[in-house]
Amino acid sequence: MDFFKNYLSETHLMIRDTAKKFAEKEVLPYVEEWEEAGEFPRELYKKAADAGLLGIGFPEEVGGSGGGAMETVMAIEGMMRGGSTGVSVGLWSLGIALPPLMYEGTDEQKERFVRPTLAGDKIACLGITEPNTGSDVAGVRTTAVRDGDHYIVNGAKTYITSGVRADFIMTLTRTSDDPHGGLTFLMIESDTPGVQVSRALKKTGWWASDTAELAFQDVRVPVENRVGDEGMGFFTLMRNFQSERLALAAYGVATAEICLEESLKYVHEREAFGRPIAKFQVTRHKLADMATRTLAAKSFVYQVASRVDEGDYLVKEVSMAKNLAAELAVDVSYEAVQLHGGMGYMREVVVERLSRDARLLPIGGGTQEIMKEIIAKNMGL
Ligand SMILES: Cc1cc2nc3c(=O)[nH]c(=O)nc-3n(C[C@H](O)[C@H](O)[C@H](O)COP(=O)(O)OP(=O)(O)OC[C@H]3O[C@@H](n4cnc5c(N)ncnc54)[C@H](O)[C@@H]3O)c2cc1C
Repeated sequence: MDFFKNYLSETHLMIRDTAKKFAEKEVLPYVEEWEEAGEFPRELYKKAADAGLLGIGFPEEVGGSGGGAMETVMAIEGMMRGGSTGVSVGLWSLGIALPPLMYEGTDEQKERFVRPTLAGDKIACLGITEPNTGSDVAGVRTTAVRDGDHYIVNGAKTYITSGVRADFIMTLTRTSDDPHGGLTFLMIESDTPGVQVSRALKKTGWWASDTAELAFQDVRVPVENRVGDEGMGFFTLMRNFQSERLALAAYGVATAEICLEESLKYVHEREAFGRPIAKFQVTRHKLADMATRTLAAKSFVYQVASRVDEGDYLVKEVSMAKNLAAELAVDVSYEAVQLHGGMGYMREVVVERLSRDARLLPIGGGTQEIMKEIIAKNMGL
């Protein structure tokens, strides 16, 4: 029985089911090949768009499928059944790249960038982090200097999800010295002269999603590609972080759920000392703890997502959900590997992959420590 059966609507269940079926058919059979290759085929974007998955969380007026935070959580849960966080975050890099356009963009910008991306024809990525600054966003040094109808952009970005093959980079640039008030978003098209992928980075996990280091050298970006007013970038980004962090919380819960299910199956199959390892009390208690924490975190993430959909701006709770679910994913995937013994260390089992993938969750989208700073600040500390 689904504990949340009274909580989820028919639409929620349908979205989760659609994403799950898509993942089982279009991702799962190829996942090992794509993980080893470090990317998935570009055509998957189109397939996911046609299934209505890329547009979840975006309004129909711009080509989206509608829905909000809760629908996004459902889609992530379903898509994770493909067994790879990398495929999912690669497909949905638009989920962190396009919201600034939805908050601040013009209709013309939405037509140029949002619609083709939701249709699966273009790939979008978000460029915030730089070689010298990540947590401290006010330290962004990539400059955008106005020159007539253009900005001239110079600098570098790193760890950019989908950056290797993205068509557009939602780029945070510095347009004045004011630490927070001097940041501005520009949508930079990757084929603009001076934009270069300096490196495709190799990672601990998320193998199927490409991750880039990018360089900008005298890149001429038309003023009409500025997203929002000059100097508003930091504030737009803070809003953007809310949906990114909630999505990462959903990845954490989905990771834990899959690892728990895989472990439950394995402990009945595997025998040691003449009995299934499920019979050892230490195994049973471990699984009881994993199940308890997973259900509690899932409840909290659902609650926060629902409140966000009601229009509440929940900075503290979103940060709490992100930390709770990220720690859950790391711990539960670790225990899942442990319960699988040597098999847990083999690439052929999903818990091995998810345990590597999970390690990113307390780092990406704002680290565990930064989340705690935000929570403490919002507690008046
Ligand atoms: C696989 C992957 C994908 C990513 N995708 C993207 C992407 O698409 N776009 C993008 O822009 N970025 C992306 N990132 C970057 C990610 O958001 C940053 O790595 C993250 O925000 C942390 O920044 P940092 O790496 O510079 O760490 P740092 O800021 O250098 O932090 C190092 C350590 O210091 C701690 N620390 C820093 N400041 C404080 C403080 N005030 N108090 C206490 N502790 C502190 C941190 O918590 C951390 O433990 C990605 C990263 C990875 C690994």
